[in-house]
Amino acid sequence: MKFTCLICSAHQSKIIATKTRDSSNLVAKCLSCSHIQLFPLPSADEDKVFYNRDLQAKNVLRKINTYDLEKRSAVDTNRRIASIQAEFDNNKSVLDVGSGYGFFLKALENLGFRAMGLEVSSDRREISRSITSTPTLSKAITGPNKTKRKYNIITLFHVLEHIKDPIKLCADLKSYLNNDGTLIIEIPNANHYLLKISHYKGFYWQRAHLSYFTPKTVSTVLKKAGYRKIKIIGVQRYTFINALHWIFFKKPQLQNPLYETKMFSIIDNIYKNYLTKRLTCDTLWIEAKVK
Ligand SMILES: [Zn+2]
Repeated sequence: MKFTCLICSAHQSKIIATKTRDSSNLVAKCLSCSHIQLFPLPSADEDKVFYNRDLQAKNVLRKINTYDLEKRSAVDTNRRIASIQAEFDNNKSVLDVGSGYGFFLKALENLGFRAMGLEVSSDRREISRSITSTPTLSKAITGPNKTKRKYNIITLFHVLEHIKDPIKLCADLKSYLNNDGTLIIEIPNANHYLLKISHYKGFYWQRAHLSYFTPKTVSTVLKKAGYRKIKIIGVQRYTFINALHWIFFKKPQLQNPLYETKMFSIIDNIYKNYLTKRLTCDTLWIEAKVK
């Protein structure tokens, strides 16, 4: 099968991994634009089978109560809300694409924002509806906006890396934004410094992620989709203790590594500041404007 870059359509690539942690797919880097993607890319049917199997595993996990799930997501939810609040008044409308269990929607609602969620998983929608009155639709974005409804802010948290055509999705989303609208994306950062460690690399590549973006490649996606004023902010979610586990024990800190460490918060803050300033942190927060 021929390699075709998802971003620039070039065919020349270099294989950078011969398997992922949960599949025999390769990981390839485009020689023209440096974009990293799964190879070969799964067909629509293969994706259907994969996500159905994934859903079955999640159904087992569902026995975990919503309270635990919410508590585990609280650090991410609070960080995202703080970033939104620092920049926008609560009279703005928000469309959260891939709204999951709805914890972010619930937090927005509590602050008075008018929000709407889009979530394709019925299980997640059900939980979302049980914790917030913010509407959550099952609609997937498959083309330009045909309605008159537009938003001030669209959030896309850990969605873009799963998408077959990231440029088209971002371009389609632009038609859902007002002229002064902002697209906010959160994705894993493929420039993360821990990727220099081989066993971390083996764990990092995964079947569900079709793309692995760096600050450079995500900027290309947004420029090609027609966005302007692209701002990239580094976020380091995991603590330095998780990194030490990777370095010394060749595995993550825990099944669910911690995002905060109260005991070593001074060191952890220095660690996180160092990485986020250099954009070698684990996560990227990107804001892009329509005009
Ligand atoms: Zn390319």
